[in-house]
Amino acid sequence: PPRAAVAAGESAVAVLQRVWGYEAFRGEQQAIIEQVAAGGDALVLMPTGGGKSLCYQVPALLREGTGVVVSPLIALMQDQVDALEALGVRAAFLNSTQAPDERRRVEQALLDGEIDLLYLAPERMGVPATQQLLDRAAIALFAIDEAHCVSQWGHDFRPDYLQLGAIAQRWPGIPRIALTATATAATRDEIVERLHLEDARRFVSSFDRPNIQYRIEGKAEPRAQLLRLIRQEHPGEAGIVYCLSRKSVEQTAEYLVKQGVAALPYHAGLDAGVRARNQARFLREDGLVMVATIAFGMGIDKPDVRFVAHLDLPKSVEGYYQETGRAGRDGLPSTAWLAYGLQDVVQQRRMIDQSEGTPQYKRSLSAHLDAMLALCETVQCRRGQLLRYFGEDAPARCGNCDTCLNPPERLDGTVPAQKLLSTVYRLQSERGQRFGAGQLVDILLGKETERIRSNRHDQLSTYGIGTELAEAEWRGVVRQLLAQGLLAVSSDGYGTLGLTEASRGVLVGEREVHLRREAARPAKAAKRKAA
Ligand code: ADP
Ligand code: ZN
Repeated sequence: PPRAAVAAGESAVAVLQRVWGYEAFRGEQQAIIEQVAAGGDALVLMPTGGGKSLCYQVPALLREGTGVVVSPLIALMQDQVDALEALGVRAAFLNSTQAPDERRRVEQALLDGEIDLLYLAPERMGVPATQQLLDRAAIALFAIDEAHCVSQWGHDFRPDYLQLGAIAQRWPGIPRIALTATATAATRDEIVERLHLEDARRFVSSFDRPNIQYRIEGKAEPRAQLLRLIRQEHPGEAGIVYCLSRKSVEQTAEYLVKQGVAALPYHAGLDAGVRARNQARFLREDGLVMVATIAFGMGIDKPDVRFVAHLDLPKSVEGYYQETGRAGRDGLPSTAWLAYGLQDVVQQRRMIDQSEGTPQYKRSLSAHLDAMLALCETVQCRRGQLLRYFGEDAPARCGNCDTCLNPPERLDGTVPAQKLLSTVYRLQSERGQRFGAGQLVDILLGKETERIRSNRHDQLSTYGIGTELAEAEWRGVVRQLLAQGLLAVSSDGYGTLGLTEASRGVLVGEREVHLRREAARPAKAAKRKAA
């Protein structure tokens, strides 16, 4: 019999120790495994690195038949199967990358009861042939990994996930376990509804990752700031740097290599072979920095990633949390660092405006962005804000984020906001004028540029009335007003700034504005605490 075959009466812990060589279950693993092994359904919310895989792998071995795992991570299926086979678990996958005879071999092994765990791409579940195949096989359980992909208004919707709701009707007696690392209350409810998990027991782990130090700073010279982070705090250590565009991935990787940092690029535009090679090197070698788009990282299990850096603003708190969660899976001190600037806000608002989709979809993108901006601009504990976003209680201060370590100075922003908004108001009334943040700040500072002169902006009543703040501080004010919805970027594609409904309240003195004071240079990070 295969090495992982479970003897009658063998306990879950015994299987864990014998097959995986681990001593004990972590957190809620045991309770989850007992629930599913006994034939019940489960909804598992556990942060990245929490150990979700064992929650379906162990019950699949304990129960008669094959555990069917639906996962969107097709690129990782081979690795997952290899890792299980190395443990003596009989694993296989079915997806579109396979040759037909390889697929037939797996199908036959399934029918012969020779597979403990079968990984399936979600689109396979909608294919009648697959359904008929599964009808004829003995199935131990269905595991639906990355279950948040079913959420239509979530940050990572995959249409193929919608058909997974049908599993409940077609195979009613078979236990189902849905797992995700992203779960706001709304996503959770949507998973339950769409996957028909009303009777599932819910297992909600804490999303806190106490060893990760969260830091968000203003973007001045992002690459130099990144280099400082690497040299001063993480020299020779493994890290991931996320950029929005492929071009910026390549430029950043080149820059780091020139500066003597061992960095590799990764994005969907690279040749598949190069991608696979870079990923394999990152996993196997020590101290490499992967510069990547968010195409990189799902399902990557490298325990000693010491930092995750974002050079562009993530589109949602869910994405930010998931990406930063790849740092410090081994529990040792790690850094989540984000540089963000005015241009990020302008660009993302524009991308939402120009995106295809229903108004409801755009509103959902906007709401996700707003939550991310609120995290960037908070004067309170970042971790607290993050945890409360996921519906979890948190103490007022964590002691291991930038706002706790270096409390930001607050600025009574009402007067600066009034000066800025009235300038916007005056420019708006000049028809056909298109001016972005740069011109606004120049006007407030009373600069004598060609653009000021030719547009006669030195005649405006707000010209030169803002010298109490430095240029970087004014840009911070613009950014924060945008984040707070007190300014809006028009959809003209020029980054023109306009007033919103809420800005009138500020202009007429009915509403106060609170801002973070922008450090002229980013505050030097406090020494990391030991975890
Ligand atoms: P997730 O899917 O939640 O991100 P994984 O299932 O990939 O997490 O597990 C993360 C890491 O923790 C893996 O290396 C896994 O082997 C390890 N792990 C999980 N559970 C245990 C345990 N009970 N004891 C020791 N290591 C564990
Ligand atoms: Zn904190």
